[in-house]
Amino acid sequence: MNIDLHCHSTFSDGLLTPDEVARLAHRKGVDVWALTDHDELGGLALARATAQEIGLKFIDGVEISITWANKTIHILGLHLNPNHQPLLDGLAFTRSGRERRAHQIAAALAAVGIPGAYDGALNYVGNIDLIGRAHFARYIVELGICSDVKEVFTRYLVEGKPGYVPHAWGALEDAVGWIRGAGGVAVVAHPGRYHFDLVQEHAFIDQFIQVGGEGIEVITSAHSPAEWKYYEGLAKKYQLKGSRGSDYHGPGESDAELGALPPLPASLTPVWQDWF
Ligand code: AMP
Ligand code: MN
Ligand code: MN
Ligand code: MN
Repeated sequence: MNIDLHCHSTFSDGLLTPDEVARLAHRKGVDVWALTDHDELGGLALARATAQEIGLKFIDGVEISITWANKTIHILGLHLNPNHQPLLDGLAFTRSGRERRAHQIAAALAAVGIPGAYDGALNYVGNIDLIGRAHFARYIVELGICSDVKEVFTRYLVEGKPGYVPHAWGALEDAVGWIRGAGGVAVVAHPGRYHFDLVQEHAFIDQFIQVGGEGIEVITSAHSPAEWKYYEGLAKKYQLKGSRGSDYHGPGESDAELGALPPLPASLTPVWQDWF
């Protein structure tokens, strides 16, 4: 079975609408699909309806931004009840800081000679509550300052670069609590992105498990083949379930197509083991 449990739509920073992502996943041979927009469940109803119509098994998901030890970490919530009120409230709280951060990012970019970035980014926003760095990146590509979104991140939007604004998201235990309260499974998204040293890695995973986290993304486009191996080992070491997802954001902006990554290593217990 081809299972892809991580991707985005226009309800966060993806380029395609939820129904377009559903149809594309189906065309790409995905059998089980989760939509996991950042901090937002608004696309799930349309995604589910389309998936049902075309015969694709659909899993409700989300990717929650948190701050841990001054780092932004993403926690996937999978197979959850999208009507659970504390989850909805927690995500509304998480989203609430984005507007102010966006103005700060625009001011930081103006200071290095890129004016008008707030309004420019708005043209790429599908959901104003979810204005984020990817929308700024698309505008900076439009200006011709960089040739693609990746280059914008590297030059302007990652930590240490002029358009980066530190932001305090919610706490790990809260996000995992909302996910579990909604009957879902909490999964560490793309752990290779955080550049933990071994001490931090242990401290983070230990706390993640203590607060009820159960899974880790192993097969993701954010990882190299060596990292697929490394995080397979880490999942086994901590007895975490493994997950697989492309983190697809749309044509031309993704390191992997939907459903195209290798399967989850057979040595791991998949996060989806009890779902069907
Ligand atoms: P935000 O939630 O606004 O901080 O934006 C995070 C999003 O920016 C991620 O989900 C990716 O879509 C995108 N992103 C982060 N880092 C990179 C990168 N190095 N290259 C391309 N896109 C990135
Ligand atoms: Mn994104
Ligand atoms: Mn992410
Ligand atoms: Mn993602």
